[in-house]
Amino acid sequence: MMRSLLGGLFSLCFLASTTFAQSNPCSLSDHTEYTKKIKEFTTESFFSTELVDHLPLSSCVPAPDVSLHHIVGAPDVLDYTRDINAYFRLLASKSPRVKVWSIGTSEEGREMLVAAVSNEANLAKIDRYKEITAHLADPRGLSEADAQKLIAEGKPIYWADGSIHSPETGSPEMLMELAYRLAVEDTPFLQEIRRDAIVLITPIVETDGHDRMVDVYMQHKKHPDQHPYPLIWWGHYVSHDNNRDNLGVSLALSRNMLKTYLDWHPTVMHDLHESVPYLYIMTGTGPYNAWLDPIVISEWQEMAYHEIEEMTKRGVIGVWTHGFYDGWAPNYLLSIANNHNSIGRFYETFGNGGADTRVRTLRPPDTSREWYRPNPPLPKVKWSARDNINMQESAILFGMNNLASNGQKFLNNFYLKSKRAVAKARTEGPAAWVFPADDPRPAEQASLLNLLQLQGVEVHRLEKELRIPAAQSAQESAGDKEKDKEKSAEKSDTGAKPKEEKKPAEAVLPAGSYVVRMDQPYSRLADMMLDTQYYSPRDPRSYDDTGWTLGALRNVKTTRVTDLSILSAAMQKMGRIDPPGGIDGQGKTFVIQHNTDSILASLRFRSPAFPWKLRKIPSKPMAPNSKPVPSLFATPTAPSSKRPRRISESKSILRMPL
Ligand SMILES: [Zn+2]
Repeated sequence: MMRSLLGGLFSLCFLASTTFAQSNPCSLSDHTEYTKKIKEFTTESFFSTELVDHLPLSSCVPAPDVSLHHIVGAPDVLDYTRDINAYFRLLASKSPRVKVWSIGTSEEGREMLVAAVSNEANLAKIDRYKEITAHLADPRGLSEADAQKLIAEGKPIYWADGSIHSPETGSPEMLMELAYRLAVEDTPFLQEIRRDAIVLITPIVETDGHDRMVDVYMQHKKHPDQHPYPLIWWGHYVSHDNNRDNLGVSLALSRNMLKTYLDWHPTVMHDLHESVPYLYIMTGTGPYNAWLDPIVISEWQEMAYHEIEEMTKRGVIGVWTHGFYDGWAPNYLLSIANNHNSIGRFYETFGNGGADTRVRTLRPPDTSREWYRPNPPLPKVKWSARDNINMQESAILFGMNNLASNGQKFLNNFYLKSKRAVAKARTEGPAAWVFPADDPRPAEQASLLNLLQLQGVEVHRLEKELRIPAAQSAQESAGDKEKDKEKSAEKSDTGAKPKEEKKPAEAVLPAGSYVVRMDQPYSRLADMMLDTQYYSPRDPRSYDDTGWTLGALRNVKTTRVTDLSILSAAMQKMGRIDPPGGIDGQGKTFVIQHNTDSILASLRFRSPAFPWKLRKIPSKPMAPNSKPVPSLFATPTAPSSKRPRRISESKSILRMPL
């Protein structure tokens, strides 16, 4: 392969920082043994590039084989989470260009990591760069001149994460070699990435499942005569759909990744998957999610085509885009970035479900020449784990270099998307979403509002009653309006008169109602979560058949308000919302509002006075002039000494003397 870019590489040295005080500078040479094995395990020269067909040897920083006792991409071997994490910690202890920290643990207590790789000067100022992206993420109060100063000072951040899907085993291995290469190699191409960007790496997203996969795979390698165990269920609670959790955020891995995103605001978040030959670079077929800023759609295309071109120029075959996945649903891991005004993207490389080398025969649909796949994969090829590493690592390095060399543009786009999200209330609407104070299901309402806050969305509470002249209910959302418009247009075509639109009545929003303003940085995400989807029948079949109108899904009232006057109403920004609950009065029987709030299930199981005798009573006014409320009579059967003094879990207890 082309080695000209390596000219002078091995004569170059780099100086260790004072933190890593060595009296002599560290030297670089060719890691001949490692390089030899890369060549040996790469099945075809057109599955490699000059970026990855060798590895330098540093006199200071241990290469992956020192720790793993094999090269990255070696056949028939995979590494456990603890060993991969240990290598990243070793790198950080030996290189001034690497920092590592924990981002939390899995359900089973396995650690998830982030490693930051950049040059020494950038890592010394890493907190300042984090501050800059946080400012650009929330540009309220930032003048244009100050924003431009921050962009000029800032560094774009590229966050690569591996193996959310446990049978896809190449990326945790590849990311170790990538981190080492980024830390030690001194070609102008890699120096540029270190100088003009910060790379974050999370080697394994699904750590529990990864270790189960390594167990199953290595067991079979040790006992090839026995029938292999299938990896039936890999995550602690969820397997493949751990990559559909980023609206609900119910898994530890989703919470850890979301929190890390909100701490760092990476410009790009890149998930590494393995399924289709040989390297699919995500842009999707569309329809694209209608709530995203259209700038990000261009960014997906621009980044994908840069990498396709660079790989194709080097003679690598089977690198393509478009014809897989759509870009519609916002619940993938990469959606964390797209939903918060950054760029979320992914690769699919060809995996072998482990580190086997196998002859792979492809079906005609995978090898056909298409406008989006002018250089298609071959019908039959020998494919190795190292081929997979070469493809992932080369392409993502081109992506990282693209971000670094166009850092100002990408940071400016991020700022622009954030600014336009704040302007959305006035430029696109709606003005706000309101959760009325008189919702009969306050616990579910609070749970949904807390979920929005977990996602970084601000929630306010109205201090006084507000009358809105032309409010629209959630049922009259943007999608429906579009549908109505189309229907009207169809009717006009046939000469029929469109129905006269009914003017919505004045809406009264009680004091204490919660308001999600659309003049905040994550307005698009909130609008996306609460609005109704309209999936045009003209569009191709969706990649995931799913919907996500969370108000309707949780039976919580949401009101879409287009009247801008709501933005001037007196309201207070909320922290965590904890709806009131408790027991009023004395007696042996509790009256509980039977409002189908799902928390009622936990009341029954968490109460020490369990079991309860429950009796449903018909809806009727419980006090003069009060509304009829369906209720339950609940009589604890446990002795009075064990009865609850206060049922704080029950957020839905009716405050009523018994
Ligand atoms: Zn996957």
